Amino acid sequence: MRCPFCGNEDSQVKDSRPTDDYSAIRRRRACPGCGGRFTTFERIQLRDITVLKSGAKREPFEREKIARSMQIALSKRPVDSDQIDKAVSGIVRQLESLGDQEIPASKIGSLVMNALIELDIVGYIRYASVYKDFRKPEDFNAFVEELKSLHPGKQPKIAAE
Ligand SMILES: [Zn+2]
Repeated sequence: MRCPFCGNEDSQVKDSRPTDDYSAIRRRRACPGCGGRFTTFERIQLRDITVLKSGAKREPFEREKIARSMQIALSKRPVDSDQIDKAVSGIVRQLESLGDQEIPASKIGSLVMNALIELDIVGYIRYASVYKDFRKPEDFNAFVEELKSLHPGKQPKIAAE
């Protein structure tokens, strides 16, 4: 497995154990080149899903892409990588249960939003601002107003940020 820090193509497995729900094997790896440490997950690929993007473009579904977009939305937030991984597994299970070979990107986006609102409201707003493509402050205000009415009690504490 290639080291994400230095690009070295070799890494050593330091620890290997199942996740809490036994749906995957979690491996701690270390890079002999730079000493960097990272985690990989081994899991069953149930079937191949294609993502339908705008303009009739198609690309293979990649779990990693969802994980990455959630990690970015949740960076420096009090949510750890296991929580993110569990949420991503939940999304993948929901996608698989749809039974469709092709899934619109917008469907995946809304499942990610549902997962984020449960994990962290700030991460949710960050993701939404990219996903919903806010262009002006009024777009953001309208979104926050909608959030207040749809999810009372989940308003962001702006002052605490
Ligand atoms: Zn390295």
